[in-house]
Amino acid sequence: MIGNYLAYLEFLNKKLLKFFASQKPYIFCKQGCSRCCRHAQFPYTAIEFRFLLAGALTLDDATQKKIESNIKAILEKKKKYRGKKFLYDCPFLIDNACSVYDYRGVICRTFGLMTNTENNKIRAPFCAFKGLNYSNVLNLKKKTISVRKFKKLNTTSEPLGFNVSYKYLTGEDYEQAFNLKFGESKPLIDWFE
Ligand code: SF4
Ligand code: SF4
Repeated sequence: MIGNYLAYLEFLNKKLLKFFASQKPYIFCKQGCSRCCRHAQFPYTAIEFRFLLAGALTLDDATQKKIESNIKAILEKKKKYRGKKFLYDCPFLIDNACSVYDYRGVICRTFGLMTNTENNKIRAPFCAFKGLNYSNVLNLKKKTISVRKFKKLNTTSEPLGFNVSYKYLTGEDYEQAFNLKFGESKPLIDWFE
């Protein structure tokens, strides 16, 4: 099963690489920017979680201990949390970098692209509103592409939304195509409870 998941990841990486390359004028991801690894839920299916753990086991002892302590601290906070949606910084984020980069989940691989929703509406990544990806081409008030800003950039690469919703990328179509089962999906931290 893990071999099939690896084949799926290879396919997904290639596909996302093409998407990101086509959106170069609008992508401002750089090393050290870790906003997308903070204050969120990070859905993980069972197979993604198993792969992530396998990656964590390849890390040196000190990093593994740091991750364990992050997990413990988040779970403690979660116990006391009374709100609806518990948000946290990813425990695998160490010194503003992903400690398990090659093993990260599907949602982490799609961070930063503009998505095309089921109603054919584009949705900018949250960081567009923080002056990052797509901020140079969006009308932030109307949440639409600004033709004026696009023209000003003088580029032929159109800003596009892609069907990279987590539900779709971990759905039945991919299970069948790669002969795998993603299994249950829940926020990353819940897998440690
Ligand atoms: S697994 Fe890595 S990329 Fe994903 S949220 Fe955590 S630190 Fe970020
Ligand atoms: S997706 Fe946005 S928040 Fe994440 S690394 Fe790229 S620019 Fe930074």
